[in-house]
Amino acid sequence: MLKYFAHMGAAHAAFYFEGSGEMNARCEALLRLLPDGAQAALISSAPNIRYLSGYTGEGIAVVAGGRAAIVTDFRYTEQAQRQAPSFEVYEIASGEAHETVAFRLLSEKAVRCLAVEEDVLTVEQYKKLQDVMPEMNLVSLAGTTQRLRRIKDSGEIEALSRANKLTSDCFEHMCSFIREGMTEREIALEMDFWMLRNGSEGVSFDTIVASGPNGSLCHAIPSDRKVCRGDFITMDFGAVTGGYHADMTRTVAVGSVSPELRRMYDTVLRAQLASLEAIRPGVRCSDVDAVARAIIDEAGYAGRFGHGLGHSTGLEIHEEPRFSRLCGDIVEPGMVITVEPGIYVPGVGGVRIEDSVAVTESGVRILTPATKELVTL
Ligand code: ZN
Ligand code: ZN
Repeated sequence: MLKYFAHMGAAHAAFYFEGSGEMNARCEALLRLLPDGAQAALISSAPNIRYLSGYTGEGIAVVAGGRAAIVTDFRYTEQAQRQAPSFEVYEIASGEAHETVAFRLLSEKAVRCLAVEEDVLTVEQYKKLQDVMPEMNLVSLAGTTQRLRRIKDSGEIEALSRANKLTSDCFEHMCSFIREGMTEREIALEMDFWMLRNGSEGVSFDTIVASGPNGSLCHAIPSDRKVCRGDFITMDFGAVTGGYHADMTRTVAVGSVSPELRRMYDTVLRAQLASLEAIRPGVRCSDVDAVARAIIDEAGYAGRFGHGLGHSTGLEIHEEPRFSRLCGDIVEPGMVITVEPGIYVPGVGGVRIEDSVAVTESGVRILTPATKELVTL
């Protein structure tokens, strides 16, 4: 329902849409996690707003007991109403700050202590809040919604499963597409195009294609280098469905490769399979990382696996927790996380093998069906 909302002599005006009036379960969970004393949350991060409401446009969200609202501008009002039916939607008047409208909503609920996303707000946005609501006690909500997002529900896991299946299908297509003499850029373009044409909403991140000696760069930018016989090609890429990000890496051979490259591949594969075996609820993330690292170190590649074993994925490509030496978090069912050991040797090349997996009650469900046996093109 569209209502006209006028105040202070109508110098400023805003439209608003009544929500369904029922707070959804994610917002209720967020309210239960508010820091002591906080009566409401102000959400500024786009993926957090999407998680809580379904809305994908610009703006901010206010969540208080009995009230969940999106504050946005004319361009997004209708979209917000469609995507977030359980939220009230407020449209700012021309020249009006989002924070001003948010403050009005909070005042109606007599909110005096507000939790804000200190890890997301810019200094400018923070100052704006202090300006608009000078009496408000601002406390930190940093990481709280992200903590809820760690455990995916069945709908989220299905979206991630579809995205990773599409990504694996793209890999299969690439195995018959890649020819000697193609450049890394041509290969990356085909991957992006294929995923988009087959239903991906975008790409999870800039597609990585690294051939030959470029393979030692973990995050190589596809270049004009032509792939040739004896090369490894590492492809790291992902499709997006329902807003959820897939992530997979495969390394393939062009013709026969040197025994050294082959040994690198076999070592990474052993490390990858052993870490998958180690994942189950209750284990420490750093212990899973250690499984892969020990295998790679013992094979003589100590120091050549310079990144963590994996990261969670979801509405963003990099989420918490991570499989790394520094992450002491405990693995729980519902986490979706990558397992991506690698070996990188400057002047020689590199190998990385990455699956996305969903943690189950007893182990993992692998969301990346593509083969991990070495594919020779
Ligand atoms: Zn990746
Ligand atoms: Zn990854």
